[in-house]
Amino acid sequence: MKPWLKWALRIVAALSVIGAAGYWWLLIESGSPPGRYRIDLAAVRARATSIPGEAPREARVETIGEAAFPSVAVTAGDGWSPIPMTFFAYELVFADGIGIVDTGMDKADAAAMNATSFDDDAFKRLTDAMITAKFVVVTHEHQDHIGGLIKHPQIKAVLAHTILNPQQARDVGGMMTAITWPAGALDGYKPTDYDPYLAIAPGVVLIRAPGHTEGSQMVYVRLASGKEILFIGDVAWKRRNIDEVRERARLITWLMNEDRSAVLDELAVLKRLAAENPDLAIVPGHDGAAVGALVASGVLAAGFR
Ligand SMILES: [Zn+2]
Repeated sequence: MKPWLKWALRIVAALSVIGAAGYWWLLIESGSPPGRYRIDLAAVRARATSIPGEAPREARVETIGEAAFPSVAVTAGDGWSPIPMTFFAYELVFADGIGIVDTGMDKADAAAMNATSFDDDAFKRLTDAMITAKFVVVTHEHQDHIGGLIKHPQIKAVLAHTILNPQQARDVGGMMTAITWPAGALDGYKPTDYDPYLAIAPGVVLIRAPGHTEGSQMVYVRLASGKEILFIGDVAWKRRNIDEVRERARLITWLMNEDRSAVLDELAVLKRLAAENPDLAIVPGHDGAAVGALVASGVLAAGFR
């Protein structure tokens, strides 16, 4: 073999090893949780009864639209076949009003996320509900959760009863830059800092969960019936991420500027919580099957009122 050919083959072999290692690292390997995150469910439950009054009578879900991501983006090591990503918003119905958890995004922002469907009527119901709500909270500051607030035609009126933590009340960088706060919208707005839990209404407690974004939080709800629901935002896009403690592909978490270790920790905690509390309804960020099952079993009601 000619010396130059031998070298060429060696370089090709080296590149393919590097390529295979890179592929494994960026798209297959998930990592292991460092074990620093905690949720003290007893403490959360105690907070849930700290504000006097009747807990929500029901929790309702509005389906705003849907997109499709490659499976490997959702769960490291999965293939390239498309998997549906459903966009949701939630309504907590109290005797004397409603609370909103997550605000979806408008049609233009959904199109920017390559949505394959968008329900204009559902988004209108959500937009209207945000005006009359007692409170509005978001699980995190990405456009598919906070976009309905940032683009709201009456943003000042809605912000008057919106509870955002400091990391949520600022513009987001990275992959979700399609959306920015309108000039002056946050003037005079005071974010609410807390750590690690904050009761905001009877039966409703915010739980700090930084990782997917700095402002990420979970929303614990104990309905008047006693049923417990945990809205976890995008800590997990799918229930499978929790059950297998597997994160999004590392390439995706890099692009999203996510704290991967923190999210892996949260997935491990959620898996343990689920095992110890089989009646606790965990609601992942974009899992149409999981949300559909909760509707079918009566934990969530379909559509805002
Ligand atoms: Zn999301």
